[in-house]
Amino acid sequence: MVTGNSVAAFYVTDKGSLLAHGIKGLYPDLTIMKFTKGAVRKAWSEEKVLIFIMAAGIVVRTVSPLLKDKKSDPAVIVLDEKGRYAISLVSGHLGGANEKAEEIAHFLGGKAIITTASDVNGVPAIDLFARAHALSIDDWKLLPRIGTRFINKGRLNVYADIEMRLPAGFVKVSDPASADILITNRRSLGPRRGLYLRPRNIVVGIGCNRGTSAEEIGNAVRKAFDEHNLSFSSIRALATIDRKADEGGVKMFARKSSLSILSFCPEELNGVAGISESEAAFRATGAKAVAEPAALLGARAERLLVEKQKIGNVTVAAAEIRGHAVRGARREEQDNLTPTGRIYVVGTGPGNIEHITPYAQRVIRESDVIVGYSTYVKLIRKMIIGKEVFETGMTQEIDRCRKAVELALGGKSVAVISGGDPGIYAMAGLVFQLLKEEGREPRLPPVEVIPGISALNACAAKLGAPLMHDFASISLSDRLTPWKVIEKRIDAAATADFVIVLYNPKSKGRAGHINKVRKIILRHRLPNTPVGIVKGAMREDEKIIITDLNKMLDYDIDMRTTVIVGNSRTFLWNDRMITPRGYEKKFKT
Ligand code: SAH
Repeated sequence: MVTGNSVAAFYVTDKGSLLAHGIKGLYPDLTIMKFTKGAVRKAWSEEKVLIFIMAAGIVVRTVSPLLKDKKSDPAVIVLDEKGRYAISLVSGHLGGANEKAEEIAHFLGGKAIITTASDVNGVPAIDLFARAHALSIDDWKLLPRIGTRFINKGRLNVYADIEMRLPAGFVKVSDPASADILITNRRSLGPRRGLYLRPRNIVVGIGCNRGTSAEEIGNAVRKAFDEHNLSFSSIRALATIDRKADEGGVKMFARKSSLSILSFCPEELNGVAGISESEAAFRATGAKAVAEPAALLGARAERLLVEKQKIGNVTVAAAEIRGHAVRGARREEQDNLTPTGRIYVVGTGPGNIEHITPYAQRVIRESDVIVGYSTYVKLIRKMIIGKEVFETGMTQEIDRCRKAVELALGGKSVAVISGGDPGIYAMAGLVFQLLKEEGREPRLPPVEVIPGISALNACAAKLGAPLMHDFASISLSDRLTPWKVIEKRIDAAATADFVIVLYNPKSKGRAGHINKVRKIILRHRLPNTPVGIVKGAMREDEKIIITDLNKMLDYDIDMRTTVIVGNSRTFLWNDRMITPRGYEKKFKT
């Protein structure tokens, strides 16, 4: 299966070569090769899109022995030397040849030739429908037949035991026996040979003895699923106790089956009511049970689909995620048949997992890929065991965003994580800016921003209540903002008597900035104005200092520090920094 996004072009004549070089304007990374059968054979398995600038006949003869199926074949597009026609020849839908042909034709001012029936007739293609709804197709061989039936009859009977809106032409039926398409996690709903589409809505809870192999775990899950008439393709994730998430067998099984692992600590598992408990498990792990509560927590369900089955060294339980839109895709988005890929820009708070909102935690656990700056990724390490992770250094935000967009367009749900709040000096704005520039609407992946506790919340809480009145937050990083602008804002905030929160107060390259800022503030405020300095709030090495404008530079201030400068009325009481809101009079009466 081709996974890259690469494009290659083959030419025969000089004119063809010239046209290929022209197309580089559209695909800058385009590989251009002189046509030989050997080169095509090699490119077939390595490239995602193959463009041939030559007669269609040569292409047909060359690629026909290489064709496998529409899931794995690359997109093949044929162009005439003048670039008048871009023919989508192979892998029109899933491989994206139709779309690429349109793109190239548009770029060259030519015409795209599209022949796939569903596009021509304007009916939704079943494979795209399935992909847009994250349904996996059980039997690809049935697809052409059902597709033809759809085109001939103009409608299909669809049985779905999950809630979902169907596109025009899909008629909902309540009897599986009359259905052309069956959307269900049940393995079989009768003898009729319909096309089964599988929602990924089952979470499998797993417990196992130490050292159990991936194979044994896989067999146990399959056996339990067979006995309960459930489809293995409907498994969304595995769920287990935190220490098992790191077990070789569990990890290997998850990787082989492309499943993520949701892990829970004993306290979380013990908090689930109404499940059968095991003394042995409690003694070994501190959890009274593993498989059942993990499945329930993972699926956020109240009832089990499969109660605990003990099969050899493995215990298996399963629960169903209710509502198909587990990824939260909104209806109108689904109707547009946009891919289910989504970007979540998630705030992971100041440092430890307890200060991440439950919703953000869930999104992180459910996402296919985690994208983030390595420091923040490390802080949530325990929550993302077994997941695909794309980490980069601090200044590579744009690379991270690009990667996130690319993965989401490929159908993955991606959590772009940011420390603190993702919309405060962080990733959310960048993601939107990038999408705006890409301008590929309406195919852009949906984006959801999930707030987190920002450094200003965390640090203010540690200091007492310094932000009780109007405040301004100013970043001293001049990497993206000219220093003059920063100075001007400091001056304005100090003049207007705002409490001032200073983010990014210091780094190696600009040690003197904080002193300059202090001097500007001192033009408007007394030297004994309270100043709070908090380093690594809510992290293991947290340090809290309360001082004043006069002495603030005696303390260590670095890039993990936030500084809060009080206003003219901020006072200290019992080692706390408090800004009054103006209610004092009320207390006196
Ligand atoms: N999005 C983040 C801010 C990123 S800018 C948020 O909302 O908090 C990075 C700056 O945030 C750091 O230089 C520091 O000033 C501040 N910061 C982040 N985490 C912090 C913490 N745990 N304690 C103190 N300051 C922190």
